[in-house]
Amino acid sequence: MQVQRQSTGQRLQLDPTSTVGAGGEARIYTIPQEPNLVAKVYHRPAPTHARKLAAMVTNAPDDPMAAHGHISIAWPLELLLTTDGQRRVVGFLMRRVSGMRSIMEYYNPRTRRQRCPLFSYRYLHRTGHNLAAAVRALHARGYVIGDVNASNILVTDTALVTLVDTDSFQVREPHNGMVYRCPVGRPEFTAPELQGRNFADLNRTPEHDLFGLAVLIFQLLMEGTHPFAGLFQDPGDPPPYEARIASGHFPYSRYHPGPYSPMPSAPPFDLLHPALKALFTTCFEDGHGNPHARPEAHVWQKALREAEQTLMSCTANDQHLYCNHCLSCPWCERTERLGGRDPFPSRQAVQRRHHLQAASSAHPPPLPSAQTPRATLSSSPQRPSVPPIQAMPTVRPPRPTPPASLSPPRPSRMWAVLTGAFWGAISGALVRMLLQGVLSPALASQAVPDVLWALVWGSRWSAMWGTVWGVVWGACRRPAAPMASGGPALFDRILSGAILGSVLGIGASILVGMTPVGMRNTPAGAVLEVLLNVDWSATLPALRQALRASLTGMQEHAIPGAIVGVLLGLVWGACRR
Ligand SMILES: [Zn+2]
Repeated sequence: MQVQRQSTGQRLQLDPTSTVGAGGEARIYTIPQEPNLVAKVYHRPAPTHARKLAAMVTNAPDDPMAAHGHISIAWPLELLLTTDGQRRVVGFLMRRVSGMRSIMEYYNPRTRRQRCPLFSYRYLHRTGHNLAAAVRALHARGYVIGDVNASNILVTDTALVTLVDTDSFQVREPHNGMVYRCPVGRPEFTAPELQGRNFADLNRTPEHDLFGLAVLIFQLLMEGTHPFAGLFQDPGDPPPYEARIASGHFPYSRYHPGPYSPMPSAPPFDLLHPALKALFTTCFEDGHGNPHARPEAHVWQKALREAEQTLMSCTANDQHLYCNHCLSCPWCERTERLGGRDPFPSRQAVQRRHHLQAASSAHPPPLPSAQTPRATLSSSPQRPSVPPIQAMPTVRPPRPTPPASLSPPRPSRMWAVLTGAFWGAISGALVRMLLQGVLSPALASQAVPDVLWALVWGSRWSAMWGTVWGVVWGACRRPAAPMASGGPALFDRILSGAILGSVLGIGASILVGMTPVGMRNTPAGAVLEVLLNVDWSATLPALRQALRASLTGMQEHAIPGAIVGVLLGLVWGACRR
C-alpha cells in the first residue's frame, strides 16, 4: 500500500509483510527509506482520527529524554495521507523504538531473572522515576494517558522508559477545548471513582493517571505485587481488583486495612523507603476519596531519587540493594524464603547461568500464598495482555553500568552557599525589622518614611549575620551526588575545605592556646573587633552575653587559628579526590 507524507508529499511504499506490530485498530509498518521511523496506519481511518492526530502533531509534549537521544513518548510526528487525490488522513509517522520490553517483564521477578537478571533494585527505582518523568511531561501539556497499563510502557535494559500507543491518549485541543476521549481502560490501573463507569462517556483527569502510575511504581518496587492484592479474610470468593480498588481496601493501610491481609508472597511493605511508603499511603488511602491528594508525577520522581540514593548493597551479594533503614538485607531473607531462588542473582551466578537453573527448576518451592485456597490473585499479574504493539523484544546481555539519569542535578555546593546567603540575609533582616517594629515605641511617633528607613537601616547587621549563617548552612548541606561518576567539583572541594579548616583551626587554636608567632594583633584582630561590636540586638540578651563573652576570649587565638585552618583546608580540599 502507498501513503503520502503530509509535509513533503513524499510517497511511502508500505509492505504488508514488513510490520512491527498489529492491533485491533491499526497496523505498524517499517519504512525502507526511513529506518528510524515507523508508520501506523488505521484499518478504518475516521475524521476524528485526523482531527485528534492533527492536534497532537501541532502540540507535542516536551520529551524529558530528548537531549539524551532517547524517546520517552512515541508521539505522532507527521500525518500520513491517502494518495488517491482525496488526501484523507490514514495514520501517522512516529519514531521507531527497539530493544525494549514491557515494563511487566522487569517487575515480574520470573521474567526479570530470565531476561535481564542484573536489573537491580536501583534499576527498578530508576524505571519508576523515568516513567514518572514521562507522565509529568504529558500532564504538563494537558494530555491524559487514560488507559494506563503495563503493555503501553516499554523499558530498556538501562531503565529508560518509552510510552507507546500514544494515539490512544486523551487529547484536548488547546484552542477550543475539544476533548478526544480515551474510551478504554484496565480495571486494575483504574482509579476508584472511575470503577464501573463507561470511559467513553467521561473526560479523564491527570489524577486518574496518577492512580495508575502509583500502581505501576508499587509493582516495580514490590516484586510485581499489585497494591490491592491481598488475602481475603472473609468467607466467600475474593472480590476482583476493581471491587477492592472501589472500596479502598489497601491491605497495607495502617488504619483501615479492610478484609485483606498483605500477600504472604509479597515482600514486606517496610522494605520501601519511608518517603515512598508515605506516598503510597497518601495515594491509596487519602486519594481514595480525594483524587487531588494523589501524589503528582514530580513528587514520585523526587521520592524515588531520594530512595535510590539511600540504597546500599549487601555483603553477601552486591546485586542485593536495599534502603539503609533496613536492619538486614531483605533480599537475602527473601531468597531463603523462596528456597534459594534469588530475586537479584549475583553477577557470578549470572555468569555461570545458575540463576536460570534455579528459575527453570521443575518444582520451585511454593510460596506460602500458593497453599491458601482463597489467594486467587497472583502477586505478579500474569493475565494475558495485548503484546506491546511497538516492542521488538531482543534479549540483550545485561549491562551492569548505571542507566542514564533523568535526575536534574542536585544543587551544587556553590549554589547552596549562594541560596543560603540570600535567604539568610532576607530572614535576618526581616527578623530584625519585626523585632524593632514591635519593641520600639519611639517609632510610632515618626512619619512612615522615617519608620521604614529606620527599620531598613537598623536591619543591616542582622542581614549580614543572616548571610554568614546562611553561607555556613549552605556549605554544610549535603553536596550534589553525581549519579554516574566523579566527585565534587574543585570549587566545592576548596570551599568545603576552607570552611571545615576554619572551624577546626579555631577549635584547635583555642584548645591548645597557641598561635603562630607574629599572627597576633594583625588586621584580622581588627576584623574580629568589628564583628564583636556589630548590632546584636536581634538576638536574645542571654545569648548575646554568652556569645560576646566567648568571642572576647577567642580573640587572641581564634582568628589566627582560623587563618591557618583555612589555608590547610584549602590545600586539603584542592588535593582530595
Ligand atoms: Zn543480601
